[in-house]
Amino acid sequence: MTEKANIVVIGTGGTIAGQGKAVINTSAYLCSVLGIDEILRTIPHASELANLRAEQLLQTGSENFNNEHLLAIGRRVSSLLAQDDVDGVVITHGTDTIEETAYFLHLTLKSAKPVVVVGSMRPPSAMSSDAALNLYDAIAVAAHPSSRGIGTLVVANDEIHTARDVVKSNSIKLEAFRSPYGALGHVIEGRPRYYRRPWRAHTLDTPWSIDTLGALPKVDIVYAYGALSPDAVEAIAAHARGLIYVGTGNGNVAEHLIEPLRDAARRGVHVVRASRTGNGIVLRNGAQPDDAYGWLTVEDQIPPKARILLTLALTQTDDMQALQVAFERY
Ligand code: GLU
Repeated sequence: MTEKANIVVIGTGGTIAGQGKAVINTSAYLCSVLGIDEILRTIPHASELANLRAEQLLQTGSENFNNEHLLAIGRRVSSLLAQDDVDGVVITHGTDTIEETAYFLHLTLKSAKPVVVVGSMRPPSAMSSDAALNLYDAIAVAAHPSSRGIGTLVVANDEIHTARDVVKSNSIKLEAFRSPYGALGHVIEGRPRYYRRPWRAHTLDTPWSIDTLGALPKVDIVYAYGALSPDAVEAIAAHARGLIYVGTGNGNVAEHLIEPLRDAARRGVHVVRASRTGNGIVLRNGAQPDDAYGWLTVEDQIPPKARILLTLALTQTDDMQALQVAFERY
């Protein structure tokens, strides 16, 4: 029998820490009320998978998370991973923005130790809640040696996803998490099984370290439609260093918004064309002449994760080519 791994479970809130009035309340309940110790007490058998230590870092819905929250989570995880008696970290998290926190950690942690972000779609108090099993699975994944060196993971509904690809794709169903190229593997009865590895660079192979990141530059997102007024674009661009423009289809830009976006680019705002479709790539110099207009494209990344990536990239460079390479590499 090999020694059990030492896993720290960090609580930050969300539905996994929620409580409803009755068991029928699968969707209407209070979020972020149970402490991480209380949640762990619902899965006593998890102590067979790992030596567990719990700490409460935050207690709030993930819809509230801003750059400061991301930095605080990252810094705490990093300092835990640096300890010899910590083999991995699990973070309980609201599902709304789980993919953004996970991607931020995936790009900034400098460790091969497993980090798993987990949430649930139903609170522990509800009928057929996914909270206990998701957390049990997350601990199993973090404790298993096969989870080392593949970046930050999101575990939900029996599946293991890479932080880069996973997206919350349903507002209410248990089967809410999807990766466009498929999950990395799944967990069954406390054992992870992997079938693929992330291809894009992460953790040890990125230029960003959570340990040296200071204040993060402001990058905002504009969701486009034909009736969107140039004033709205100009108002957002006025306060941002980067702007993710979520265009229609292949990142299309309505005629009346081309000049405001070109103006923003001339003033040094990094304009990135993304897509409302949620899938597929935005082809550079495809729907719009990006080279001529001084714009960037997201490649295949969804807008909220493109915001994270551009935010990090802008901590090191303003060079257009280097910024475009970031979208092709991570
Ligand atoms: N407010 C919750 C959140 O933190 C709701 C979603 C959930 O955790 O499932 O994102």
